Amino acid sequence: MENILILPGDGIGPEVMGEVRRVIEWFGTHRGFETNIDEDLVGGCAYDAHGAAISDAAMEKALAADAVLLGAVGGPKWDNVAYEARPEAGLLRLRADLELFANLRPAICFPALADASSLKRDIIQGLDIMIVRELTGGVYFGEPRGIEDLGNGQRRGVNTQVYETYEIERIARVAGDLAMKRGKRLASSEKRNVMESGLLWNEEVTRIISTEFPEIALEHVLADNCAMQLVRNPKQYDVLVTDNLFGDILSDIAAMLTGSLGMLPSASLGAPDAASGRAKALYEPVHGSAPDIAGQGLANPIASILSFAMALRYTFDRGADADLLEGAVTRVLDQGLRTADIMQDGMTQTGTSGMGDAILAALDSAEA
Ligand code: NAD
Repeated sequence: MENILILPGDGIGPEVMGEVRRVIEWFGTHRGFETNIDEDLVGGCAYDAHGAAISDAAMEKALAADAVLLGAVGGPKWDNVAYEARPEAGLLRLRADLELFANLRPAICFPALADASSLKRDIIQGLDIMIVRELTGGVYFGEPRGIEDLGNGQRRGVNTQVYETYEIERIARVAGDLAMKRGKRLASSEKRNVMESGLLWNEEVTRIISTEFPEIALEHVLADNCAMQLVRNPKQYDVLVTDNLFGDILSDIAAMLTGSLGMLPSASLGAPDAASGRAKALYEPVHGSAPDIAGQGLANPIASILSFAMALRYTFDRGADADLLEGAVTRVLDQGLRTADIMQDGMTQTGTSGMGDAILAALDSAEA
């Protein structure tokens, strides 16, 4: 029995996670995927109920779960709450307490949506890359940091880019494992030409991959060049590993190659448990709570459903089920069904539950 905690959150979170729940139940009925599903609050709704963006009780459930599936947090209602209780604090606490150091962001171009990209169809069609971003180190967390008054009418803002060997080793291993399951090609990106932390990154990634994953073809690419290559010829990459800062930027570039925010899944993984071998894991769409369309049944649930497909693949080791679900999404798009965010001329528009219905029907027909 697998333990799943669903944290729908705010805005469109509950709407899209409702569709995910139906998909999980489908896999229970048709594919023997037995689950205990629990639900709790995170974000603004948790603040309203408990005065904190996530309660200790919900955190304990998250720590005990095999996988946490999150919708989205935030919204204008909570713009003025205290900094430490703001909705995003719930997400940050989850990432910190679960020690989720690896962020996986696939950028996949569905054939039916190739024309929604800002790049030409032939550059984007068939794109399938995985960006692995270090999530808990680097310049966003390094010390010293702060804004200092220099007393002469000037101030100094300081952040520190810092990586230690163990942080690079563990993210390199996550990337290496993924590359072994994919095309055995890995690109690593940093700025070794101007940053010592980049030089260390480069050397440690080289050491881990060459000693532990000798079958992988590893290349190093400077982060600024990588940004250019991602818009020039993104298909040259398979798995791309990079630090927190560059990963923030490069993963957004790669994501936008494929069209809409409503289509983009993500996973954040921690270290494998010594006993079970399973990593702590949080799966969530890249998009936010979309307050502008919340409660109207318009939200695209595909990013959340594809995040669950990632959970099937990476936590539950059910690659065939993940393929089945991703195939169902592809077929529904091929049939011309669209939510408003990905609507194109000549296609049929539907809402959140209509898209969920169609994906379930596509799963049914794939099973039949
Ligand atoms: P957003 O991703 O919520 O929305 C950006 C635009 O994309 C909006 O026009 C929205 O309608 C559209 N959109 C997003 N997801 C969609 C979907 N599934 N289907 C259809 N359309 C979709 O980003 P934002 O507007 O900058 O932020 C809104 C709130 O979400 C803020 O409070 C922000 O802090 C929060 N946020 C949360 C997360 C998270 O929970 N991980 C991430 C980003 C933003």
